[in-house]
Amino acid sequence: MEDMRIGGLFTLSPEKFGNAFIRLIGPALLIVLILLVTFMTYTYFSELLPYFITFTGPWLGMLITSLGLFLLFNIIINYYYCVTKGPGHPVDHPDYQRCKTCKGPKPQRAHHCSVCNRCVLKMDHHCPWIMNCVGHKNHRYFVLFLVYLTLGCFFMTCASYSRFSVKPRNSSAHVCFLLAFVFSIVLLLFTAWHVFLIFAGATTIELFGFYGDPENKDKYNFSRGSWRKNMEIVFGTTSLITAVMPSGKDLPYDGAYWPDTLHAI
Ligand SMILES: [Zn+2]
Ligand SMILES: [Zn+2]
Repeated sequence: MEDMRIGGLFTLSPEKFGNAFIRLIGPALLIVLILLVTFMTYTYFSELLPYFITFTGPWLGMLITSLGLFLLFNIIINYYYCVTKGPGHPVDHPDYQRCKTCKGPKPQRAHHCSVCNRCVLKMDHHCPWIMNCVGHKNHRYFVLFLVYLTLGCFFMTCASYSRFSVKPRNSSAHVCFLLAFVFSIVLLLFTAWHVFLIFAGATTIELFGFYGDPENKDKYNFSRGSWRKNMEIVFGTTSLITAVMPSGKDLPYDGAYWPDTLHAI
């Protein structure tokens, strides 16, 4: 590919330029996320709760607020774990293949991320919102972050509708309702897609590989045969209740060996 000359100082291929851009927008997206969550939380306590508590009463108002705080806590803790734990990177082993790009160890399901410029264990995709890849170690936290963020947006849609739908309309409740409503729909689709992939035992990369390479479908098939077993690979448990609870526990798998699959035989 032809290089781009920027300001005459250095040359950059379009791919490298794209990767540099993805790295650069990460902090900006983090600020947008913090501002959105802060705005909605502030609007809830300053405009929405004082309004709807007048017809729900204090006890129901407290119960609804506790639910909102539970969702907020899970959004923050899962985002924190997702960023700080990272996706996990392969350690050297004589049995592993070598990556053609970085020449490092590349076990099954690992892929090279051109943005991070290294191989990532059970890579799903690179996410600029977390400034990192989604992979073996943080897949659970990424999906739970999405699940709770979706529920949080639905919660705020309902809470702000009570104030938005009566006149005179409050401007922050108005903005809050529109933002929460739009984000709920977009996030619901994105979250459903990722939950489906987890239950199917696949990553985004593997799904595209599976349908894009009909001759070698087995190469991309890591399903263990049941959704609960597939869920265990990501959450470390077969219980749905335990899976959605906050936990910083490490997974029982090393991210290089995959049980019950065609590849482990
Ligand atoms: Zn690599
Ligand atoms: Zn990456």
